[in-house]
Amino acid sequence: MGDLIRMASHAFHYLAVFDQHTSQALYLGRTKRIASPAQRIVLHARDRGCSRPGCTVPGYWTQVHHVTDWKNGGSTDVDDLTLACGPENRMIEHTDWDTRKNRRGQIEWVPPPGLDTGQHRVNGYHHPERHLLPEDGQGP
Ligand SMILES: [Zn+2]
Repeated sequence: MGDLIRMASHAFHYLAVFDQHTSQALYLGRTKRIASPAQRIVLHARDRGCSRPGCTVPGYWTQVHHVTDWKNGGSTDVDDLTLACGPENRMIEHTDWDTRKNRRGQIEWVPPPGLDTGQHRVNGYHHPERHLLPEDGQGP
């Protein structure tokens, strides 16, 4: 375990190691639209709650959202999923809001041009440790 953590120490994404690995598939592509229980566990560990900026809804009360919308060819792959609370998951379905992954691997909620006031696009509420990082987002 120590070697694994040491090997991953330079990575900045996230490290989630689960006891008793069960070989559950985390990349389902277009074969299934609904996230599996294994994907939800990983998302809960990674996102911890709704990924929309300003939202404090914890992971247990969220739904799984396709970052690239399913109707636009999105995949049910854990790297293309995020947690969103029910109201916001339904809102984004019927508006011009969009979600995408930035170069740091964080989920951004992008407002339509008429609503873009320069607001935050990433939710830091569930990740207070991010506030300890320098502006470039690279760890010490
Ligand atoms: Zn929310």
